[in-house]
Amino acid sequence: MSEINHIVIVGGGSAGWLTAGVLAAEHRTRAGATLRISLLESPNVGPIGVGEGTWPTMRDTLSSVGVTETDFIRECDASFKQGSKFQQWVTQREDDCYFHPFVLPQGYTETNLVAGWLERHADVPFADLVSFQPHLCAQGKAPKQAATPEYAAVANYAYHLDAGKFGLFLRKHCIENLGVQHVVDHVVGVNTHDNGDIASLKTGQNGDIAGDLFVDCTGMQSLLLGQHYGVPFNSQKHVLFNDTALAMQVPYQNDDSPIASQTISTAQRNGWIWDIGLPTRRGVGHVYSSAHTSDDAAQHELHSYIERTGGPKDMPSPRKLTFNPGYRDKFWHRNCVAIGLSAGFIEPLEASAIALVELSAAMLRDQMPATRAAMDIVARRFNDSFTYRWERVIDFLKLHYVLTKRTDSDFWRDNCRAESIPDRLQEQLLLWRHQPPSRYDFHRVEEVFPSASYQYVLYGMGFRPEGPPVSRRTDDADRADGYFREAAALTSKMLAALPTNRALIGHIKRHGLSKI
Ligand SMILES: Cc1cc2nc3c(=O)[nH]c(=O)nc-3n(C[C@H](O)[C@H](O)[C@H](O)COP(=O)(O)OP(=O)(O)OC[C@H]3O[C@@H](n4cnc5c(N)ncnc54)[C@H](O)[C@@H]3O)c2cc1C
Repeated sequence: MSEINHIVIVGGGSAGWLTAGVLAAEHRTRAGATLRISLLESPNVGPIGVGEGTWPTMRDTLSSVGVTETDFIRECDASFKQGSKFQQWVTQREDDCYFHPFVLPQGYTETNLVAGWLERHADVPFADLVSFQPHLCAQGKAPKQAATPEYAAVANYAYHLDAGKFGLFLRKHCIENLGVQHVVDHVVGVNTHDNGDIASLKTGQNGDIAGDLFVDCTGMQSLLLGQHYGVPFNSQKHVLFNDTALAMQVPYQNDDSPIASQTISTAQRNGWIWDIGLPTRRGVGHVYSSAHTSDDAAQHELHSYIERTGGPKDMPSPRKLTFNPGYRDKFWHRNCVAIGLSAGFIEPLEASAIALVELSAAMLRDQMPATRAAMDIVARRFNDSFTYRWERVIDFLKLHYVLTKRTDSDFWRDNCRAESIPDRLQEQLLLWRHQPPSRYDFHRVEEVFPSASYQYVLYGMGFRPEGPPVSRRTDDADRADGYFREAAALTSKMLAALPTNRALIGHIKRHGLSKI
């Protein structure tokens, strides 16, 4: 029945510092709190330093941690992200593109918009008809005005950020304002209790560091959960083939070049290229399958993309990162919970990794077991939630590949092979031939991707239902038309009222945002 008084987080990347911040901020506001939080990071192993795209959840996370949006934007070279734009994923043609915006379609829960779209407006891209956000992105608009308070939105948004600066920003806040104890040392071993729980960590310089709960944020090496406990790794390479990335930082042509309001993801012969606009530079990288292409060929495609999109001709060699796509069989074992890359990683196609960190840290905060006896129950629930979430991330990412009409390489052909498609996704695709994705397909309280996201990708990729949807009402098209008009009116209003991303970032740098 021993109490949980000391939490030891190992790892000082985004996962470690976000978890420390989320736990410490809550602990400080709790009456009679006795919880101590220490974060241990190695001086020899740096954080991965990539991961520039986030989800709108980050606004709540940062606000709960107690940092201001102004400081965050200034110190992390952050900009606003309103979704993703996918280019050449379907046909490879120059004009082949679709949006996955962050706002739900107008009137989404009220009527069957898909029926109305197909009946009367089938020539308009689905996202352009049901949402104002793709139009804001197309014009490089910010998701709020200079007078909109911190973290508040006119249009739902997340951020693009510099991962290295983000870690340092969180570290400073956690140490100076939240009382997190910071130990810079390398963990060289693990001491266990008789029951197998971790008692303490052996360090190079600071002796043994004891704790009641250990959070493994050690990145891909998964020091505690993977290496010490040997929790098996559930590889997903047979579903999502990408396992290598080449990353670069690309300068803008000039200081006032527009900052893109969305992540631009352009499909290549054997993978895809991300393009993320920060205030001072772009982050560009090629993610690809090493089984389908060589590093040289991938680098050549990356360099030619950079040149085509206005970058310099003579870029240095990119940084290469390799990963094994997949996740652990479980994430919480005995008194050890893995958060971040130590729990798993799948290609960054929808930037879900940091979002899973936020969800993990929030569940740990909200469900913090008071005693060791309660811990196994919480651990079971945690494992159930996150196994479900990883499975849904995989389904959703795979959806981006299975509807392609590209046949220019084995990569795209292999992606469409039935045996590479998870059963549940296959089943849903069958159902969606007759009815649109809905809340009946995704009914958990905190789904990682709502049914609206599936609609955006499905119809963006050219998927069309067969015949009239089964749930159709006779007045669906009329009702939907009302919402399409609403979306169009909002588009005009917002285009006129919102500054550009670049202008708003400039304003924040000079004057800051008003407090809530
Ligand atoms: C190519 C690529 C692109 C990505 N893009 C995105 C994206 O757009 N959006 C997104 O959400 N995510 C993205 N990610 C994932 C994102 O980078 C990570 O999820 C995030 O940075 C968290 O990493 P981490 O903290 O788990 O691990 P790391 O940053 O690797 O940190 C590991 C920490 O563990 C410490 N450590 C290791 N061993 C020891 C030891 N023995 N003793 C003490 N300390 C130790 C290290 O010192 C380090 O501080 C991307 C990942 C890759 C590979």
